Amino acid sequence: MNSTFKRKFLIIPGLIVIGVICFTILPRFWFSAYLKNDYHIPDPPLAQAKKADRLCLIFALDGVPFDLMDELYKEGFFKGFYKPGRLVSTFPSLTRPAFSRMLIGGKPFGYERLYFDSSENRIKGFTLLRKIFSSTEKYPDYHPKLHFLGFPGYIAYVFPDRFTQTAIDGFKKRVVEFKGTEFIAYMGISDAISHVRGREALKKFLKRISRLLDETRNESGVQMDMVVFSDHGNNFVPNQWVDLVTPLERAGFSDSKHLETQKDFVLIQNGFVSSAAIYCSNKTAPSISETLSHVNGVDFSVFKAGNSVIVHGKNARAQIRKQEDRFRYTPITGDPLSLGPIMHDLNKTGKADTNGFIHENDLWEATRDHIYPDPLRRIWDGLHNLVQYPATILVSFKDGYAFGPDIFNRQLIAGRESTHGALLASHSNGFFMTDFKPVEPYNRPKTVANLLKKAAELKGNGFKSRGLKNE
Ligand SMILES: [Zn+2]
Repeated sequence: MNSTFKRKFLIIPGLIVIGVICFTILPRFWFSAYLKNDYHIPDPPLAQAKKADRLCLIFALDGVPFDLMDELYKEGFFKGFYKPGRLVSTFPSLTRPAFSRMLIGGKPFGYERLYFDSSENRIKGFTLLRKIFSSTEKYPDYHPKLHFLGFPGYIAYVFPDRFTQTAIDGFKKRVVEFKGTEFIAYMGISDAISHVRGREALKKFLKRISRLLDETRNESGVQMDMVVFSDHGNNFVPNQWVDLVTPLERAGFSDSKHLETQKDFVLIQNGFVSSAAIYCSNKTAPSISETLSHVNGVDFSVFKAGNSVIVHGKNARAQIRKQEDRFRYTPITGDPLSLGPIMHDLNKTGKADTNGFIHENDLWEATRDHIYPDPLRRIWDGLHNLVQYPATILVSFKDGYAFGPDIFNRQLIAGRESTHGALLASHSNGFFMTDFKPVEPYNRPKTVANLLKKAAELKGNGFKSRGLKNE
């Protein structure tokens, strides 16, 4: 054997060993240490010697659609629970605003990790590099509420399966050792599995979560009340990258980092989702929306116009107005939200007042099963109240189309298996269930927020001996 051959003979197994250490052992070791962090700022676990005799477990699962949870329930999983109901997300149907509304009832700065601060005229938030291995910092969103953060950062979207067992083991250990009365856990790996691996992989993961919750109930040694829910759906179809910049530049607009002229727009690029947030001058918004309406893959865009909102789809425009808890939908050309027959029925049954405004609860009842569930309130909310720095224009894509950094246009990672963000039902419908009381078939984020508020009040009033079940 000559020496060159010997060297090669040693180098190859050496590289394999280094590869195994770097890609399997080290990430797990790091993640398992990371899972011991407690982010719960307002109320750290009590340093009491004895465990409380009752524990409310709030378990937030990222990106699990209602249909899949319903299918699993019918197959006999999540047995200890009442049957799941739909949970219609925010618009855009994205993690940060949806979980923030449910877990803290508050507003994050933006829709995703990056946002445009209009007062400072610049993009702010996490850079991707900081986000790859880091999932939280002091931030006005749901993170400071968590006792357990089951998400290794964006590296989960590169290796979604690598962290599953570590997250499951880490959760179980933390909750069994926990001494307080309310444990809030977030499992983010489910969304990464959906985006990258698709429906069957997510189903497999959820079966493990079903077993995990059974084991937790049996092994915690205390009475438990469990609330389990997700923030949005996932469409489970490969998604084509949409180029928004080229058509806008061709139309004379300028892709910018700051807004200096009427032609400038700032397009925030985060993950690969079926919605987009554009910041520009209010005067420019109608013409940008008009340009976008002809872009293949764009379903519609929405922007504020005076005290109304305009919905602009392809050859279709409508106006939304709001008066207290009532909304009015007025088609200008066509019917961009396909609400014609529903509006006709609501008018016929006397639900509209003399000015054509309809109460949000009546609209909710009439549209919660629509292709765009609860569209008027969610669109209004998305442009006004959902985040601290709302976009000038929000874009909602058709099924099968998504937007994100240009890297998602590359063959290697193009398409993927799933996404969410759009107003569409398949992108928006998460689930909600508890093991102590049946839930409504259709729910809004505020239902979960109210239940959690109730749990917090009970906690202050001797929750540990009564539980949510007895309320
Ligand atoms: Zn999510």
